[in-house]
Amino acid sequence: MIALVDCNNFFVSAERVFDPSLKHKSVAVLSSNDGCIIARSNDIKPVIPMGVPVFKVRDTLKQHGVVLKSSNFALYSDMSRRVMATLARLTPQLDAYSIDEAFLEWPGTYTPEAVRQTVHRDTGIPISIGVASTRTLAKAATELAKHGNNALDFTGMNEADIDQHLCRLPVGEVWGVGSKLAPFFRTRRIFTAYDLKTLPEGMRRQYPITVCRVISELRGQPTDHHAPLHPKSMISTRSFDQPVYDQSAISAALCSHGAHLGIKLRKAQLTASSIEAFVSTGKKEGRYSTACTLSMPTNDTRKLIQAIKMMVSRLYTPGLSYKKAGVMVARLSPVQQLTLDSNEAALHHGEKINTAVDAINQKWGARAIRFADEVGSKEGNISATPQQTFRSPRYTTVWKELKKVT
Ligand SMILES: [Mg+2]
Repeated sequence: MIALVDCNNFFVSAERVFDPSLKHKSVAVLSSNDGCIIARSNDIKPVIPMGVPVFKVRDTLKQHGVVLKSSNFALYSDMSRRVMATLARLTPQLDAYSIDEAFLEWPGTYTPEAVRQTVHRDTGIPISIGVASTRTLAKAATELAKHGNNALDFTGMNEADIDQHLCRLPVGEVWGVGSKLAPFFRTRRIFTAYDLKTLPEGMRRQYPITVCRVISELRGQPTDHHAPLHPKSMISTRSFDQPVYDQSAISAALCSHGAHLGIKLRKAQLTASSIEAFVSTGKKEGRYSTACTLSMPTNDTRKLIQAIKMMVSRLYTPGLSYKKAGVMVARLSPVQQLTLDSNEAALHHGEKINTAVDAINQKWGARAIRFADEVGSKEGNISATPQQTFRSPRYTTVWKELKKVT
């Protein structure tokens, strides 16, 4: 059996732990640079779409008295760590799936409600939990639980009861379907998770293997238990505070994104086989990107930066005003233990440098030490403090910002 734990409105909940006055207020959290809304308290979800730019909903925000918060990732990632550490004590196997979600092997020693109470007591974060025989069903149970009392256990139910629940889950909310495939299914009169589950065998053959897997999982037959749970790609991107014209500034910004991805890859023990760099002038037709395949899978920051620097000249056009730049790494795979490679010494050397850089940054704060290629003109420097007008203190990670109790 498997359980999925999902933190409710995670960023908003993390803000509320340290500022209880927000508890009964409508709260929205903004993206870095305060541009878009990336998290909302439950009450305003129907009126404020996810990801919407703030300027588009100013009136609605005012009308509902919404408290705005700049994103505080130091706080969120530390709270995430605490939630995961608490969950890890309750299960033999924990798979952290995202910053606010984790799959747990479910021995049935605790009730879902007990897990909810433990996480809430130890971290202050409210969670939803779904338990079922497959990951897809557990995820469905969690989605449904969010609209009920935050816990739903399929394991004790007969199939007819489970089906009744699946009838209430829109097909677009099924894990692996999502909002992109949902319209496609709706034109075929498949509206709910139940419709998908009961699709006749003959019709299923028309669909790709990924959809067939989802259907099997909805039927209680596990398919991806042992499949790697790592992401397919990682992206680092940011808008410039002011337009950038200069090639060296673009290059520095892209290298800085590359270095950031190197850290993320090493943390996740993944390597990338391809890398894409992109810049944008802010207009629809003004997005330029170029990609290359890495000679071998890597998470070595120096290799990523090397590839990026080769791509910059293909990407840059003099005279354009750039508003945004970013890097994406793709074709990710888990780090392989290297044994028989002739370049082993060189690889080992790279590994040592990266480990040292990571250790220094871990000790002295994120990006205390950087690669020279990341340092360009001020405008291109993505390590500069973003605009964060409404950021709460980093209560749990910076001594000076500890919560004061008076
Ligand atoms: Mg969540």
